[in-house]
Amino acid sequence: MRLIIASANRGKIAEFSALMECQVTPFYEVIDEIEIIEDGSSFAENALIKARAIFHRLNDDSIVIADDSGISIDLLGGAPGIYSARYAKEGATDKENLQKVIDELQKRGASNSPAHYTAALAIVSKYGEYVVHGWMYGRVISTPRGNKGFGYDPIFIPDGYNKTLGELDESIKAKLSHRAKALRLIKPIIMMLKERA
Ligand code: IMP
Repeated sequence: MRLIIASANRGKIAEFSALMECQVTPFYEVIDEIEIIEDGSSFAENALIKARAIFHRLNDDSIVIADDSGISIDLLGGAPGIYSARYAKEGATDKENLQKVIDELQKRGASNSPAHYTAALAIVSKYGEYVVHGWMYGRVISTPRGNKGFGYDPIFIPDGYNKTLGELDESIKAKLSHRAKALRLIKPIIMMLKERA
């Protein structure tokens, strides 16, 4: 039984392999290009859409894992949320999306706002579907600091810290992150599905 990950992101694939202590195969090694329209209204729905699309294309006993993540900023009414990857425009770069958040905060005369990251992980297998979530709470600031991490990390300060994820050591993010928390939750589900197979 193969464990397939519905991501082409090397960082995510490495995180999954390390946590699962087993080989995970990226989807592009086992199927041809596939167009997936992520039109769900939540992180969970979008993660399920991706995992189901690949599971149905494979049509075998693989376990498929997909994730969807983003940042929600209180002062912006929860935006960008599920639109985090395309907040500035369709196909926007991380830098453009980050700038758009900064502009929106500045338009409101705000130097910071409570915020949180969400990660939803969906597992689709012939024995059923599962979704788990992980969250990381903190605040965003309107002046980026540091260049570690990616995406919105230079403006995000996790609760309990006074540095942004752009400044903090990556080992700290690896423990605190929304994705790390969700990954810890899927481990027992994967074990159970493997035992059933
Ligand atoms: P996706 O789940 O790979 O589609 O990512 C959605 C978007 O959310 C990314 O493009 C980033 O902008 C943002 N995002 C998700 N997780 C993180 C994170 O850990 N740090 C910074 N940005 C993130």
